Amino acid sequence: MSNWENIVGHNWAVEMLASGLANDRLGHAYLITGPEQIGKTTLARTFAQALNCEAPETERPCGRCRPCKLIGLDRHPDVKLIVPEVSGRGKLTLKIETIRQLQQDLNLSAYETRYKVAILERFDAATIGAANAFLKTLEEPPGKVVLLLTATDADMLLPTISSRCRTLNLRPLPPDLIETSLATRWRVPAEKATLLAHLADGRLGWAVQASEDQTILQTRAEQLSHLHEALAGWRSHRFSLADKLSRKPETLPDLLKTWLSWWRDLTLLNQRQGHPVSLLLTNVDEIERLEPLAAAWSEAQINISLNQTNEALWQLERNANTRLVVENLLLIYPLPELA
Ligand SMILES: [Zn+2]
Repeated sequence: MSNWENIVGHNWAVEMLASGLANDRLGHAYLITGPEQIGKTTLARTFAQALNCEAPETERPCGRCRPCKLIGLDRHPDVKLIVPEVSGRGKLTLKIETIRQLQQDLNLSAYETRYKVAILERFDAATIGAANAFLKTLEEPPGKVVLLLTATDADMLLPTISSRCRTLNLRPLPPDLIETSLATRWRVPAEKATLLAHLADGRLGWAVQASEDQTILQTRAEQLSHLHEALAGWRSHRFSLADKLSRKPETLPDLLKTWLSWWRDLTLLNQRQGHPVSLLLTNVDEIERLEPLAAAWSEAQINISLNQTNEALWQLERNANTRLVVENLLLIYPLPELA
């Protein structure tokens, strides 16, 4: 069994990388794209292991030899993981100094491996200067160097960069695959595995993280209880809730995304016309609350709440007055008399 089998889903991508290696048709640069926490870096790291594994060819990457182990821990001297810096507001930046340092490293010969590898995480966070500096390496890569870039979206990169890479676009995984993997490989209890698989939006990495880090589900429970509170309250209550929520502006984007998924579920339930939709729902644990509301509220009411939640998110990203945005939003949601 090779370490490729530890990758859940993305079979075609594994196949493409493994067969390229086996048939001696390696590219010198790959761009792995897809949503956050979908497995881009895991795929890149496993490929780096395959490139440098010491096991017989058919067993690579074995996951057990020295290079495999060190690469798995991001501690191999010839396999560099480059991660963008995070600034105060969570903005990612990959700086030109980081690229220059990497270029110096890549120009030295390998210590102990067949291939030097650089994994550049979230290259969409590269500054224009950094991207242009890196272009030189892409155009004239040093021998026996393989460059693995990841990004959420190839369109966010300079075309001069993406056109020089072989692109692998990873798609979200189906919930049932995430559910099975959580239950069998991470030993997550069945009910929790089902919930996380639905909440994950196709991102296994997120689901695994949420299964290990209690605070993620706790935060979501708080976000939903604020929403329940708002919907149960009258105008005056909503004003004071808006005031309370807007005192923590950094938590709002995430809160609104959770609310958005809840309204989307309501839209699905409202429009199902007798078809079962529970497989498509995100907030499967809310079904008993959602069902009666989907029946009681009109399509128009649900749609305007959904759209306005989206709009609020958009306004906050553009630095609108936080309190006003939240207040307006809460006043648009249906009042309890209608529920
Ligand atoms: Zn190995």
